[in-house]
Amino acid sequence: MRQQVFPRRHIIGLGAGAVAALALPRLALGQELPPTPECGTDPKATIAQTEGPFFKPKSPLRSDLRAELKGTPVMLTGFVLTRECRPVPNALVDLWHADADGEYDNRGFRGRGHQFTDAQGRYRFVTVKPARYTGRTAHYHVRVQAANRPVLTTQLYFPGEPGNRRDGLYRRELEMTFSGASNARFDFVLGGA
Ligand code: FE
Repeated sequence: MRQQVFPRRHIIGLGAGAVAALALPRLALGQELPPTPECGTDPKATIAQTEGPFFKPKSPLRSDLRAELKGTPVMLTGFVLTRECRPVPNALVDLWHADADGEYDNRGFRGRGHQFTDAQGRYRFVTVKPARYTGRTAHYHVRVQAANRPVLTTQLYFPGEPGNRRDGLYRRELEMTFSGASNARFDFVLGGA
């Protein structure tokens, strides 16, 4: 039974990923981003939030998390910046989130991945929109780690979600900005030295 179930789930996962790949526009890394970041006169460090109980170290190095995930595709891009608005290359960005049923994969790495910002300080993930789960509105969890700086652990939220106002952790400053239905943007501003 076990041997039958696993290959079948695997095939379904691949199928969903292939469909999502067709539905998403083909975009090169950073194509949605300007060549240089734009910051206000006094960019504030991104607010830290609780890691929650589902962080798992040693996630795969990958930007496309859609394997084995069903749901609405989301492409999340942005810069990692200093408070002086300087891009931070080679910063580790680790993303983990619930699936379309509001479940985390705590055995494997479904819905988990990390990557490093490029020379311009840009990152990009292609994944799906997570479902809300008990007590929580839809959100991504992120850890950003750059050399000689404290780790930034935070969460990102979807604009216009009905669950936002019922979630005590939700912060408007941590909303992603969407252009179109699936292109999300968030720039992380690191505090610390
Ligand atoms: Fe969570």
